[in-house]
Amino acid sequence: MVTDRETEKTLKVGFIGLGSMGAAMARNAAKVGLLDAVWNRTADKAELLARELGVVRAATPADLAGRVEVILLCVSADRDVLEVIENLLPALHPGQIVVDFSTVSRDTAVAAAQLIRATGAAFLDAPVTGGMEGARNATLAIMVGGEAATLERVRPVLAALSNRIVHMGEVGMGQSAKAVNQVMCAGINEAVTEALAFGARLGLDMDKVIEVVSGGAAGNWFLEKRGPTMTRGTFKPGFKLALHEKDLTICEAMAEAAGMTLPMTAMTAEHYRQLMAEGHGDEDISALYRLKRPAA
Ligand code: NAP
Repeated sequence: MVTDRETEKTLKVGFIGLGSMGAAMARNAAKVGLLDAVWNRTADKAELLARELGVVRAATPADLAGRVEVILLCVSADRDVLEVIENLLPALHPGQIVVDFSTVSRDTAVAAAQLIRATGAAFLDAPVTGGMEGARNATLAIMVGGEAATLERVRPVLAALSNRIVHMGEVGMGQSAKAVNQVMCAGINEAVTEALAFGARLGLDMDKVIEVVSGGAAGNWFLEKRGPTMTRGTFKPGFKLALHEKDLTICEAMAEAAGMTLPMTAMTAEHYRQLMAEGHGDEDISALYRLKRPAA
């Protein structure tokens, strides 16, 4: 439970979507006493986590919505967000807030907000970045779209998951900022996997390369976190490659609508589709290294 700064009443919080990101975020909310209920499509995961955290396992999304004021959501893709929201609608009422952490299109965020607004509840799109490590360590960066006053009401909840919360503007602007992030991640992935494959071909000690390069101008999060695993041929997610392909497809459509192209993003999406066709869609995005590394 958390106190609503506006009304000084306590707010009950529930979490829907207990995947790699959602489960870690729910744990952090529970750690500071902010979680009351959870729901997950695959019920076993919700049962285990509810028992671990000592919170209620809701029977359905609507059951969860009937128990809490703040509903946090982290599911896979656009249609999943809209499906969950359709299931929430019958139980939503004025004063409630739905916060969606999933990465989806700006259009989906706007559609979700419209559906929710009709019930009198409020909606924030609040996509996150920082990977599973950020979710686990409560160091996610959160980009928020929606009413500033709504954000202020749930800020204490978001602060339990994050060390950087930025209000981007109206509904959908959080997802627009996340699209920028995903385009950048595509380029970083191409650069890091290609450079490390090059280093391996030159016969370098790749742990030493990662150590020294991380300290200089080319250092970055992805190199430090995923460099040591990709060069050992380990591609455990992390961030599933098929989810990033989904994001890049959204980015390409957004760019087209804005009258521009994203050539590098298109190339990475194509690389991901090739890897997905070979059965690597559930691996981490660093599996792009498979296409770059020297043949054994
Ligand atoms: P994940 O491990 O695959 O988990 C997906 C979750 O969504 C699961 O709980 C799944 O339920 C649920 N779900 C999917 N479709 C659903 C539907 N139609 N109805 C109800 N629940 C549904 O994915 P993740 O890595 O946690 O990613 C979740 C979101 O965060 C995605 O939008 C992703 O792009 C974004 N994200 C991920 C990362 C990362 O590093 N992993 C970083 C930033 C943002 P089941 O358990 O029943 O399958």
